[in-house]
Amino acid sequence: MQTISILGSTGSIGTQALALVALHPERFRVAAMTAHRNRELFFQQVRTFRPEMAGLTEPIPMEEIPADLRFCRWVMGKEALHAAAAEVPADMVLVSVVGIAGLQSVMDALAANRQVLLANKEALVTGGHLVMDAARRIGKPLLPVDSEHSAIFQCLQGAAGNQPVKLLLTASGGPFRTWDKERIASATREQALNHPNWAMGAKITIDSASMFNKALEIMEARWLFDLPPEKIEVVVHPQSIIHSAVEFADGAVIAQLGVPDMRVPIQYAMSYPERLPTGSKPLDLFALGQLTFERGDAEKFPSLRLAGECLNAGGAACTILNGANEAAVAAFLAGEIPFGGITRLVEGALEKLGPMPAADLDDIFHADQEARRVVAELLDSVKQ
Ligand code: NDP
Ligand code: MG
Repeated sequence: MQTISILGSTGSIGTQALALVALHPERFRVAAMTAHRNRELFFQQVRTFRPEMAGLTEPIPMEEIPADLRFCRWVMGKEALHAAAAEVPADMVLVSVVGIAGLQSVMDALAANRQVLLANKEALVTGGHLVMDAARRIGKPLLPVDSEHSAIFQCLQGAAGNQPVKLLLTASGGPFRTWDKERIASATREQALNHPNWAMGAKITIDSASMFNKALEIMEARWLFDLPPEKIEVVVHPQSIIHSAVEFADGAVIAQLGVPDMRVPIQYAMSYPERLPTGSKPLDLFALGQLTFERGDAEKFPSLRLAGECLNAGGAACTILNGANEAAVAAFLAGEIPFGGITRLVEGALEKLGPMPAADLDDIFHADQEARRVVAELLDSVKQ
């Protein structure tokens, strides 16, 4: 029996992780869980999984907690993430909150010597060097949940210490893969939220449409697998069957395949190195017939170019990209700016802020705040 704390249990990743706990009750028990706003779903989850601690990062008065749920310790506000990540004993901590909110939690969990299962890519995008140092210090490698990074991690299991010379990071290409640049710029919220292969949270779905998700994943891969951006190639593969691949010095390429189903990488992280049933459908290559590949188009999706530029610039450039993108996506989802405004705001923030340091968490949170401030300033300029 292993205990798991889940930060962001009401999200797309969080709910699937809980479904896996329910599928293997003899194997996993929930120690702590947190949610942000979705209290109705969270109350149901607490009722079902009976953790030792539950917390809402958006605080509510204790009187609003149903009487039958007061059996556990309740923590409200930001403290909830810290308590779930570091105070409540657990064999593993799944960080599946969205956004830069995940960085402090990952650092807290590592400082408390916890095994971290990492869905929140923003922690590595913004604080990759600090997170990797902290993980090395405790000798517990991060277990990636993001499907591409899980795929690469799985491909490296049989590598006997041989380092890859190149990573092939696959991308579905999102809903606008075949659209031209002008049409993409004026895409609606509904069109951008309509991902062809994956059902995910709203933020990452918009990022898939702009390919900022792939930009964040290049940064995530840079830290997890310690390769420079030139050795990380984006391969657009619309069927999302090959989840990524690694190339070795002898020319051999090893890939991981499967139907697009996040339960597989989530559970691989939960039961690593063991494999357990997930409820996922088996892969039927005959039904698929063919798999296709294209180059990522950095002209249509400038995010792909910005990833390498920010990684090479170093300092807080990736944090600025991430913070500006988070703020811009929120503005797009709120109907305040057109889709094309997202990239323009990110480029505007990078240009306006220039080089900023990222020596510690304070620097990183400062750069993040600055990026959001500049996006708010520039918002009117991209409204049409
Ligand atoms: P969702 O938006 O579905 O869920 C986010 C979770 O975080 C919810 O539990 C939400 O609570 C909580 N949350 C939201 N804002 C805050 C905040 N400010 N502080 C603390 N908690 C907060 O996101 P996903 O599950 O899609 O994604 C989670 C992370 O995993 C992201 O970093 C994403 O990039 C990554 N990821 C997701 C994949 C997917 O398939 N969904 C695939 C690969 C990576 P509430 O709902 O109660 O408001
Ligand atoms: Mg991914």
